[in-house]
Amino acid sequence: MAARSKVNTPSVKRVRSIIAGRRPRPVRIEPSTNPALLGDMVAEVELLGSAGIVAACRAARAVQSSWASTPAPRRARVIQQAGRLVEANKEALARLLTREIGKPYIESLGEVQEIIDQCDFFLGEGRRLYGQTVPSEMPSKQLFTFRVPVGVSLIITAGNFPVAVPSWYMIPAFVCGNTVVWKPAEYTPALADALASLFIKAGLPKGVLQVVHADGPATQAGLAAALEEGVVDKVGFTGSTAVGRAIGELCGRHLQTPCLELGGKNPLVVMPDADLDLAVEGALFSGFAFGGQRCTSLGTVFCHEAIHTQFVTKFAAALAAARLGDPTKDVLYGPLMNQRFFDRFIEYLDLVQPHHTIHGSDGTGRITRKNPRRGFVGNPATGLFVHPTIVDGVRPDDALYATETFGPIVGVGRFSTMDEAIELANGHGYGLSSAIYTQSPEHVFTFRQGVSAGMLSVNNSTAGAESHLPFGGNGKSGNGSRQSGMWVLDQFTRWQAMNWDYAGHLQRAQIDVQDVPADLTFRLDGDR
Ligand code: NAD
Repeated sequence: MAARSKVNTPSVKRVRSIIAGRRPRPVRIEPSTNPALLGDMVAEVELLGSAGIVAACRAARAVQSSWASTPAPRRARVIQQAGRLVEANKEALARLLTREIGKPYIESLGEVQEIIDQCDFFLGEGRRLYGQTVPSEMPSKQLFTFRVPVGVSLIITAGNFPVAVPSWYMIPAFVCGNTVVWKPAEYTPALADALASLFIKAGLPKGVLQVVHADGPATQAGLAAALEEGVVDKVGFTGSTAVGRAIGELCGRHLQTPCLELGGKNPLVVMPDADLDLAVEGALFSGFAFGGQRCTSLGTVFCHEAIHTQFVTKFAAALAAARLGDPTKDVLYGPLMNQRFFDRFIEYLDLVQPHHTIHGSDGTGRITRKNPRRGFVGNPATGLFVHPTIVDGVRPDDALYATETFGPIVGVGRFSTMDEAIELANGHGYGLSSAIYTQSPEHVFTFRQGVSAGMLSVNNSTAGAESHLPFGGNGKSGNGSRQSGMWVLDQFTRWQAMNWDYAGHLQRAQIDVQDVPADLTFRLDGDR
């Protein structure tokens, strides 16, 4: 048992949903605790039932057309101001991130920076949002395209990137003229409240952003009712593949295409010509930074048989030497995010089979006084700390090969040909991120062509997206939608086509088109 050391918490913040209009009654109140210091209660959150989701969607519908008629550059100005406010509050928001989910402080700063980067990008997009003028096939006629907002967006997010991922949705949604209902993860209410306050203080008009705190079943029931009533037009969902399927089914019944960003089992392939020290550095960060709790965290390293033993020896030594512990210090990872992720991780350790060998730490499972980790930073008894585990000998028929483990456990397998490496990289059915370590352009491009992942790193970690490249996956990792940069505009706008005929008489498309005379029997004679 972890020692629930009492921490001086002057007054616990009570987090409520933000809904313009009426305030539905909470169905229950849940605590949010610091996973590194379980006696530290960060906030209490009032969870609403399904009615809260529907009420928020109605309120968002009521103001959507007035927000859409605000000129796009003015909408983007709000985003610019949000970016400035986030920048001015960067350290405070990063500290809260570290406190509420135990993300190492340096990575928390990186996560907050992602919001600022998105704001910078979408400030400019407010002055573009380009449509086109298109030539017509007839005279005295002009064709145009316009991007129009989709309407009310319900954004449902996981808590491992509790402020960056929601921003990836909300910032473009607002710039494009949509209103948003955001349903954050249950275990990050203080962060959700902080982020919403920054957007609202930046000048979002009342009702443009609603925040509903609710659990999974209430969210699903609320979404079903809101779709039925016609008060939601777009769903953005980031979370597990299982829940993504349920949301996809619901939206499909209403002929809607959600943006689904789901789980991953991301491969990292090490070719015989790779710089092994660089590959080890990349694998260590990909697999274990933030305790492997990223959708893009490394699932399995596939090593060419010629360098397999050498790689595993170096990888195990690097992991054994890594600093773990107090996330306010310079560590590779701190605690798992909350009890649910901790319990699930302990269950995943059962996937280790007798034919596997384990490396990288002094034990497995929870780090305690009796099951210590050499060099642990701080006191492991205060939080949800676990040993990191490398599992060598992973084969395609192992459950570990195809299960997203979302914690500090990384498999290692081997291959002998590029075809085999590609088959192993794809065979589990996920397709989010991937990496290859090699010096050969031929290996890079063969792998790029064969891998099914939406994202590919060459001599770099599987994790670490830049905010202006398309982000998203295929197969069990998503429905092909992409976030970030110009690509996300297609999630939050629809194309409208307009034709304007000023000929003064009806011109029928395809029928009243002037023909271009040509002699198609003409052939070059042989003497030329
Ligand atoms: P989860 O699917 O359990 O929960 C995600 C969100 O969905 C939460 O807000 C939760 O309250 C809500 N939810 C849960 N059940 C629901 C239901 N039946 N209907 C509607 N909403 C429901 O995910 P998690 O376990 O909290 O988060 C980890 C998962 O998220 C991992 O699989 C990870 O890979 C994935 N993830 C993906 C990305 C990406 O961009 N692809 C990013 C971050 C996390």
